[in-house]
Amino acid sequence: MKAAVYTRRVYAMEKELERMQVSLPMYALQDIGQYYARDEVKIVAGRGMKYNGRLLSYYDGEKIVLARNGRKASVVLHEVAHSLAGFAAGHGPKFMRHYCRLLVVAGVIGGYALEALLHKYNIRVPVKQIRLDRGSEVT
Ligand SMILES: [Zn+2]
Repeated sequence: MKAAVYTRRVYAMEKELERMQVSLPMYALQDIGQYYARDEVKIVAGRGMKYNGRLLSYYDGEKIVLARNGRKASVVLHEVAHSLAGFAAGHGPKFMRHYCRLLVVAGVIGGYALEALLHKYNIRVPVKQIRLDRGSEVT
């Protein structure tokens, strides 16, 4: 599948996922992100990066910058997943495995609900590898 198609599907799925969550203060997002990210990755508030007319949160290789509209747990975990998967992974399967594992183990969404959400947006993540129904045992 083309990378751009994958990214569009992931962003569409995330729009729905973000509507399910409350906004969190920066200290909470830093606690959540820092727990799963490598120690050297810093999490800061910032303006964000312009993409299709919106300001998006991003990871630049050293720090995660959270835009004002991105103060949700899934957003910081999305960027943590980039830091773990590496830039070359884009939003492809390797990134999605990290991201889905983080969403479940951090308690953002239950495994079955996430599985249904992925299915709804036609995103295929190998269930065998992420074991959505056993979030705490994910490897
Ligand atoms: Zn991303």
